[in-house]
Amino acid sequence: MAFHLLERDRKGGLAIVDALQAALAQVGNCQHCSNLSEQAVCQICRDPKRDASQLCILETPADVIAIEQTGCFRGHYFVLGGHLSPIDGIGPKDIGIDRLTERLQSQIIQEIILATNLTVEGEATAYYIAELARPHGVKTTRIAYGVPLGGELEYVDGATLSRALEGRSVY
Ligand SMILES: [Zn+2]
Repeated sequence: MAFHLLERDRKGGLAIVDALQAALAQVGNCQHCSNLSEQAVCQICRDPKRDASQLCILETPADVIAIEQTGCFRGHYFVLGGHLSPIDGIGPKDIGIDRLTERLQSQIIQEIILATNLTVEGEATAYYIAELARPHGVKTTRIAYGVPLGGELEYVDGATLSRALEGRSVY
């Protein structure tokens, strides 16, 4: 990208510099959900039309965009900023579990949707949060996993296929 900008599009390069400088100076984290935001509280958390009883838990702000693009979810988000990883010294405090506990105690949330990545760390983080939510009587769900749309069974790995079979639904 740097070579392309230097050789063909110096004007575009300067526009990127300006945009990055503005982003670095103005974009912070929402104090409710930790999503990236130019305001103290992000647009999603401020939107009265969204369902505050549903909280979708994700690893990164990019995941929020991915879910928003589906147009299927009208609840609130909570961005962990990563996942639990004892080997790397990342514990519950580092992913905002104390703030999540506060939100669970508020009794507004009726369902948490665990949408952490389907990796070993993402699964461990989801399990940890599910255990945390249990005493609060909050319904805990995990995003489904299985064969991607347009996917051909022949090329799907065995672990995914067995999860898809386990999670089959009535057709
Ligand atoms: Zn927010």
